[in-house]
Amino acid sequence: MCGICGKFSPNYLCQKCYLLLKKQAKFIIEKKQEDENYFENHLYIFQYQGIIRRAILNYKFKEESYLYLTFVNFLLKNDFFFENFKSYDTIIPVPISKKRKKERGYNQSLLIAKELVKQINQEKKTLNLCTDALEKMKNIVPQSTLDKENRLKNIQGVYKLKNKEQLENKKILLIDDIYTTGSTVRECAKVLQQVDVEKIDVFTIAKD
Ligand SMILES: [Zn+2]
Repeated sequence: MCGICGKFSPNYLCQKCYLLLKKQAKFIIEKKQEDENYFENHLYIFQYQGIIRRAILNYKFKEESYLYLTFVNFLLKNDFFFENFKSYDTIIPVPISKKRKKERGYNQSLLIAKELVKQINQEKKTLNLCTDALEKMKNIVPQSTLDKENRLKNIQGVYKLKNKEQLENKKILLIDDIYTTGSTVRECAKVLQQVDVEKIDVFTIAKD
């Protein structure tokens, strides 16, 4: 099934919707001030609006978990991003709390990260999916319900670093679904910076 229009399609994205997404796709790598953000680059595909916004909301809240295949299949058709993804050692999805996981049934960032690693490793065998380095210690008020200042406060001290040896000298790509103020990925990157990593970049499907 095509994740966008619902018609039958073997790759979760029909040709018509592929062209529709292609028109809206930006494939941007935005350089950040590392000292302020704790990471170097933000990679994203779309602006968070229109059909993209709708698809991500369905993905997150309407149990349409197969949409991760639509996004990943679309994304890996872009050679520029595909090559870029191959340059990392480790992919880390932003974790959700145990409570949220239980409610939703899946971590949307983990599904994307898993599929990315699976597909990229068909060419490059050494990309590592790391799910045991960051843990979200408590369930907090959803960031989407807060303004910028309160998002910052809300997220502080929420993530804990574990098994950090595996991250030493690694090029890390942190994955989340949407980037709004960046406070979530910034907090995760800050925690990851406790290790001597080579670099941290961030990838999200969309930027608000
Ligand atoms: Zn379609």
